[in-house]
Amino acid sequence: MLKEILRLRNTIHTEQLFSSTTYKTNSFDRCIYCHKNVENDYYEYKGELVGMPYRCSCNKAKEELKAKEFLLETLVKLRRDVDIETINKTTKEALIEEIDRTYREKSEDILKYR
Ligand SMILES: [Zn+2]
Repeated sequence: MLKEILRLRNTIHTEQLFSSTTYKTNSFDRCIYCHKNVENDYYEYKGELVGMPYRCSCNKAKEELKAKEFLLETLVKLRRDVDIETINKTTKEALIEEIDRTYREKSEDILKYR
């Protein structure tokens, strides 16, 4: 999703999004709703592998998943109108300016955290 936008930040991590909320014990994570052990496994959403989320199959975990899927669908809809060309043009210009400044000021520190 949105792989064509370069330098994209602050997006939702889908593996975490599709995980049931759990708490950590000495061995397995446990579901906050039913306290069963929860393991992670490969998970596909709409034909796309989203990683290995921790998933519980209890009703509240299923309800939580539905809410998260709704959130994701809403975000996908919002992003349909995003001007990818402008974003990529802007970030490219910013990078070029940083490179110019590096050479102008003869300081590699400028690029260190880019
Ligand atoms: Zn559960």
